[in-house]
Amino acid sequence: MQNLLFPAGGHPVYNRSIMNKQKAGTMSISKTDFMRGMQCPKMLWLDAHRPELKVIPPDTQKRLDRGNEFGDKAMAMFGPYQEMTAYIPGTQYPDKRKMIRSTQQAIRAGVENICEASFEHEGCFCAVDILHRMEDDVWELYEVKDSPEVKPQFIRDAGYQAWVLDKCGARLDGVFVVYHYNDEVDPFEPVDVTEEAIEFAHVVDENIGRLMAVKESKTEIETPMGDQCETPYACWYCGYCRTLSGE
Ligand code: SF4
Repeated sequence: MQNLLFPAGGHPVYNRSIMNKQKAGTMSISKTDFMRGMQCPKMLWLDAHRPELKVIPPDTQKRLDRGNEFGDKAMAMFGPYQEMTAYIPGTQYPDKRKMIRSTQQAIRAGVENICEASFEHEGCFCAVDILHRMEDDVWELYEVKDSPEVKPQFIRDAGYQAWVLDKCGARLDGVFVVYHYNDEVDPFEPVDVTEEAIEFAHVVDENIGRLMAVKESKTEIETPMGDQCETPYACWYCGYCRTLSGE
């Protein structure tokens, strides 16, 4: 079946309106859920049902904080922008409904750079670091990473977001990963990963249902420890899983 996001043989362009195509599903999976579930289904299940078992090493937390600061600075890389981030009052949980509504309003209002631009299709949610308007209804997607290079998992990350936007009917002209270039004045270096994002769409199609079922499972997923505990990211549940396996 032809992919509507990137028609075969042509320049990748979404061929439908970005507006009013979003649907809410009963199950919900975020970009982080998808990426972590692809690394290990048990990791996704623990995130959803036993997050208190997670142990984030201090160095990792510092790296995550630095990454957030880099991402915040990158929001201005194309000039003025509007950020869609919103939280459920009294919590640190994102208010996805509000973020999706704000994104639709920003699109209608002609905003050129929408940061944390939020979309959902049948329970699959993502917040795009920077959605950059090229023409009226044509966009570029930018995923920002505080890393000195573009790693394969970053491309998969951007690919998931491109998949969600495609399902929402976006017209997307390119997908980019922005990495941390060694230049203090202008450290934001975009790399075009559109073709790789195209290739990743089928991986999302093939796995999204399985990962939704994992997240919704009432019983704990059983997965033996292995290479996935360190790759591509060190897992924060290793202590718990070692206890289960009697190590
Ligand atoms: S420690 Fe390994 S098996 Fe356990 S949740 Fe993490 S990746 Fe999965």
